[in-house]
Amino acid sequence: MKVEVITTGTELLLGEIINTNFTYLAQELNARGFDVLYQTTVGDNPERLEAVLDIAAERADIVITSGGLGPTRGDITKELVAKYCGAELYMNLEVWNHIHTLLSKRNVCIADNNDKQAMVPSGAIVLHNAVGTAPGLVLEHGNTTFVMLPGPPFELKYVCRHELFPYLEKRFAGNGIIKSHTLKLYGIGESNVAELLDDIIIHQSNPTIALYARHGDILVRLTAKADSEAEADVMIAAMQKQVENVIGTYVYGYDDDTLPEAVGRELMAQQKTIAFAESCTGGLVSSLMTDVPGSSVYLKGSVISYTNEVKNQVIRVNKTVLDKKGAVSEEVALEMARGVREVIGSDLAVSVTGLAGPGGGTRRKPVGLVYIAVADENGEACRKFNFSGARTQVKLRAAMAALGMSLDRLKSSLKKGKKLEECSNDHDADR
Ligand code: ATP
Repeated sequence: MKVEVITTGTELLLGEIINTNFTYLAQELNARGFDVLYQTTVGDNPERLEAVLDIAAERADIVITSGGLGPTRGDITKELVAKYCGAELYMNLEVWNHIHTLLSKRNVCIADNNDKQAMVPSGAIVLHNAVGTAPGLVLEHGNTTFVMLPGPPFELKYVCRHELFPYLEKRFAGNGIIKSHTLKLYGIGESNVAELLDDIIIHQSNPTIALYARHGDILVRLTAKADSEAEADVMIAAMQKQVENVIGTYVYGYDDDTLPEAVGRELMAQQKTIAFAESCTGGLVSSLMTDVPGSSVYLKGSVISYTNEVKNQVIRVNKTVLDKKGAVSEEVALEMARGVREVIGSDLAVSVTGLAGPGGGTRRKPVGLVYIAVADENGEACRKFNFSGARTQVKLRAAMAALGMSLDRLKSSLKKGKKLEECSNDHDADR
């Protein structure tokens, strides 16, 4: 079933509000097997809305509008869709009663124009809106199903969840479903993942496979279209096995899992504690870790050792090393990790020192250069990264890399002893 979503409202075209109604509808409808193929945004203008309805009815089976069902003159969607379908409006007493009950419960005076919201096109199905005054409406015309939804996102979601989706699933039964499952990776860049999965990507059809780099994470999303959820699950599981045979060592979690959660889970499993010494990330790594409820069990504490004085006086980085090698260096990163581990008394310690920019870079030490070191009972290790992007992006990528190294260390994938690795720019593939 081809769907076109028409979002109405001049505020949307002026860029004053974000079109979250479309995002919601697209996600929910695609997940239910409806193909959202077009989306149009139009202002509160009758001629233009009429023209848009005409185009949508030509190319879609289901046309869904959002907004313009309010009580004012500027709310024109219902009137225009009814006109387009040749339907008269009549006063629906159930809707009228609901509006009056709701407004009196809210102690709102009932105005004459509230009655406008109780007008329903003849032949329309009313989608009850318990949380607002404008009901949703379904009107069939020719081969097209028109659906009208209220604009306020809370009301739109309510009507969709309780009324529209059950209706559409029944009305278009046998439409199939679309299900997605996301693998979350760390310690590898998007282009490396693409290269490793090239063969699978070239031969994909159903399920499809898509790669994304977002907020320092690499995501591999598998999407299956099937007749039932159980069938989609089987198809996804088979594809997941194939993918994990190639990149399984980089997978830290699935769907809503986060990297700090994965680190926390591993620390809990091993009954270990962690501490961070943060320079260029300014506390971001610790902040991400403490986003996880219960993280006080394993995060003992951190030091934001932003200046050389704090590096030296609080976490005991040797002053001569600082002067000779500079704060952004392998040697200082290692001393920071060692120092914070001693001061805080954690099992594992991780340090981050780098140049987040935009100024301060040199040819030898460019902006985006970051050293991350880990220290534990088995020794120390340091990696050098070159991140690109604005200051906040460099900080986020460095923080995610620090979490990735923590997880690596916990999983003992780094060899014992001190080691320096060059790291490619592939981490910059973030969007
Ligand atoms: P009302 O009864 O409140 O007038 P309505 O059905 O007429 O509702 P609109 O007037 O178009 O809807 O929108 C009401 C409010 O809902 C807007 O001011 C805006 O804040 C929000 N809204 C409308 N459309 C969208 C959208 N596409 N995405 C996000 N928010 C929206």
